[in-house]
Amino acid sequence: MADGSPKLHVAILGCTGSIGRQALDVCRQHADKLDVVALSVNSSTDKLVSYAREFSVRAVAVADEAHVNDAVLAELPEGCLCSFGPEAVCDLAIRDDVDCVLVAIVGAAGLEPSHAALTAGKRLALANKESLVVGGDLLMPLAKPGQLIPVDSEHSAIYQCYLGENPQQAHCIWLTCSGGPFFGRSRSELESVSSSDALAHPTWSMGAKITIDSATLMNKGLERIEAKHLFGCDLGFIKVVIQRQSKIHSMVEFDDGSVMAHLGASDMRIPIQFAFSYPDRWETPAPRIDFTQLGSLTFDEPDFETFRCLKLAEIAGTAGGTLPCVLNAANEVAVEAFLNGSCSFTDIDRVVESCMDAHAVEPVQGFEQLSDIDAWARQQATRVLKGLRS
Ligand code: NAD
Ligand code: MG
Repeated sequence: MADGSPKLHVAILGCTGSIGRQALDVCRQHADKLDVVALSVNSSTDKLVSYAREFSVRAVAVADEAHVNDAVLAELPEGCLCSFGPEAVCDLAIRDDVDCVLVAIVGAAGLEPSHAALTAGKRLALANKESLVVGGDLLMPLAKPGQLIPVDSEHSAIYQCYLGENPQQAHCIWLTCSGGPFFGRSRSELESVSSSDALAHPTWSMGAKITIDSATLMNKGLERIEAKHLFGCDLGFIKVVIQRQSKIHSMVEFDDGSVMAHLGASDMRIPIQFAFSYPDRWETPAPRIDFTQLGSLTFDEPDFETFRCLKLAEIAGTAGGTLPCVLNAANEVAVEAFLNGSCSFTDIDRVVESCMDAHAVEPVQGFEQLSDIDAWARQQATRVLKGLRS
């Protein structure tokens, strides 16, 4: 680093996604502080090779083994190790030359790499909220103080509001929510929305799955469960408030009535960089917020009835155990079906609810159990979708 301290050696898992690309941008802007050592993708080998060359990385992994023979892989930098399959992604997380692992994979596939990073004692910069939703009971006991830094903007905000405070003296967490593109709509209006309507998020530009989750408000439901694990509280402690401008990223209210809020530009590079720089703060990677141009900040109550996914996540998060795993897996299948045009927007919560109803909740015991339940919920969701079509 410019001040003489060594660079932080990072592995970016899911480097071609929305978070992954923004993380690479942070690495470009702070090349004196960050060294990209390893990269992974699901299948986009062209982009992987281009990033591997740009950052001269030492190792890459491709999760989808159907890409073993992609000709472009011959153009990886000399000496760069290339391996395939989900195990290979986990192997990057535990390399001796890696200090910090950013898990920017989408979906439950992020669980095992997150587990690997924590077990190997690496800093885990966690964007992948699904891994905490599904396996928070297993991951959190492994995380030492300061080892797991959330990247999700709300959770990064809450983490920062708690710095220097006594968590025992917190009264509640205010988890802010943009409301998504369908804020204020009725249930009957939601029946007929298209995937292109749902992909038009008002304040954030993100990957397709989280953008649909933000339109159904499942994203906020998943984030409540994520916060429950990260901050060790009950679901009822975490209140959702609609903040349409996405400028207040979340708040913590203390016993004496003081409220700490985290504000900033709606730019994911800020929380990504914080997870790398913690406990320091580096020069911002994004344009600064100009309060004189901000206008008003508005607050509204969330609608748990119209946005049924928010309610379903509350039920799953309150019950705990294996129910959030079912909620998440069924949601992943239903969102994929909606994006393919094979179900309606409101079918997403119908599928999730039907799978949750069919599941007998168990306490979380281990990764194999979660993987079996995840697989069952995916099959069940596929059956429910078929039933809806016939
Ligand atoms: P994305 O779809 O844009 O990118 C996903 C990345 O994961 C890609 O690089 C892809 O190659 C890789 N990937 C996909 N499936 C995989 C698999 N089975 N195994 C290994 N790698 C796989 O997603 P995103 O929007 O960048 O979101 C990533 C994660 O970050 C999600 O959990 C999301 O909820 C969370 N998050 C995203 C944002 C955002 O602004 N995009 C904000 C907060 C949290
Ligand atoms: Mg978020």
